[in-house]
Amino acid sequence: MTVELSGWFVSKMLVFIADLLKIHRIIDFFHIRGGILMLKVSALENRDYNLIKAAEEVIEKNYRYGRHHIGSAVRTTSGHVFAAVHLEANVGRIAVCGEAMALGKSISEGEHEFESIVAVAHPHPHEDIEKCWVVAPCGMCRELISDYGKDTDVIISYNGKLVKCNVMALLPEKYSSDIES
Ligand SMILES: [Zn+2]
Repeated sequence: MTVELSGWFVSKMLVFIADLLKIHRIIDFFHIRGGILMLKVSALENRDYNLIKAAEEVIEKNYRYGRHHIGSAVRTTSGHVFAAVHLEANVGRIAVCGEAMALGKSISEGEHEFESIVAVAHPHPHEDIEKCWVVAPCGMCRELISDYGKDTDVIISYNGKLVKCNVMALLPEKYSSDIES
C-alpha cells in the first residue's frame, strides 16, 4: 500500500512539474491576474503613436474599395519607418496582408531588423465609422513577423487599450520546420 501510494504521488508530481515547465515556457509573455492568464503588454510610446499615424496615412492616401483597406507600418531597429497597404485579390486567399507588404518594403530598402509593427483598417464608405482602427495581425502574419524577428513588438488593442506586446506572445507553439534548430 505504501509503495502504491508513493508511486501515485510521484506520478502526480511529475505531471505537476511538467505543467510547471510548460508554464515556464510561456511565462515571459503572460502573467496571471485575478486567476486569468493575461498577455504581458507595454504602454505605447510617442514613436508607437507615430507608427500608427504612418499606417493610417498610407491607407488614407491609397484606400480603394475592394483593393486596399489595410495600412501597415513597421519601425526598424535603426528607427526608420516603412508603410504599405495590403493587396486585396479576387481570389481571396491570394490577398497579401499589409504587414507582409511593410516588411517587404523595409527589407527591399536594406532594413532587415524590426522593432515594432502595426496594422490599421480603413472604414468603407458604407460603414458609419470615421477613423481607422488598429487591427491585430492575422495568424499568417504572426508567423511571418516572428520569422523575421522574434523580438518584434506588435501594437494591438487589448482590453480596450492600445498596447504593444512581443509577437511570440501572440503565437504559442510557433511553426518551425525540421531544419530549424
Ligand atoms: Zn495577415
